[in-house]
Amino acid sequence: MPDTLYRGRFAPSPNGPLHFGSLLTAVGSYLDARSHQGEWLVRIENLDPPREVPGSSQDILQTLESFGLYWDGPIVYQGQRHDAYAEALDQLGKLQLLYPCACSRRDLQAHVLGTTIGRIYPGTCRAGIPKGRSRCSTRVRVGNASVQFVDRSLGLIEEDLAAEVGDFVLQRADGLFAYQLAVVIDDADQKITDVVRGMDLLASTGRQIYLQQVLNLPTPRYLHLPIVVNQAGEKLSKQTHAPAIDPADPVPPLIAALRCLGQTVPHEVENARLREFWEWAVTAWKPAQIPCTGDVMVQN
Ligand SMILES: [Zn+2]
Repeated sequence: MPDTLYRGRFAPSPNGPLHFGSLLTAVGSYLDARSHQGEWLVRIENLDPPREVPGSSQDILQTLESFGLYWDGPIVYQGQRHDAYAEALDQLGKLQLLYPCACSRRDLQAHVLGTTIGRIYPGTCRAGIPKGRSRCSTRVRVGNASVQFVDRSLGLIEEDLAAEVGDFVLQRADGLFAYQLAVVIDDADQKITDVVRGMDLLASTGRQIYLQQVLNLPTPRYLHLPIVVNQAGEKLSKQTHAPAIDPADPVPPLIAALRCLGQTVPHEVENARLREFWEWAVTAWKPAQIPCTGDVMVQN
């Protein structure tokens, strides 16, 4: 009987082809799920239609298949889940946790200019929006919430939301739902037990756990993987022109991904076929060996 106590997911944004950094995240979450006899779901995070590249979702799914990364169950598309997000927002409104905010990005930049505190919302609209302003985003109050969680790789993490983030946006002025809200609702609805994702999302985890707590949803386990950077130390992404991975010869990039994840790959695996590679990799997966250094350099 399968161990249904584990359900993981891979959640790419359809804004370009998969590159080596996203392959590494897919491989880490897939192996962690399969080595626990768990399920592995795929969710397409297309919350922001203008940024979506046409055909990209299909391209990503085909690439996953050609790398032998087969998922369970139907694909969930965030673009089709607006009702669920609206309902959660409604629930938070009834809890008196929301308020409209009329601050523009420029207002907030002016506030943090010359300080080292970063983008912490100063609470400008908490007691009401300034007269004459209309277009509003919706923020959630964090009060004096502090969130603690144990990352399976990094250990105990504590985030003081008031001091480090402030009240944060759940719906933008143009009506788009915030990533933080969508992810929390999706993970809960899909009954995700284990989130394995890149360290670039570590800074979002405190906000997501806060939303889980106020919405009375379970908190999954978290494992944040190192980020792949190029020779210049930049995160691989569309913006840094990371090349698409080549599905024609999948085993070498898969081995490179495993080595970036601190796994020991014997030389004979280099000659394995795709199917043999996965059979070996699922049994050999050792999450304790994942480097917790933050980022790993891609080897050319
Ligand atoms: Zn405001």
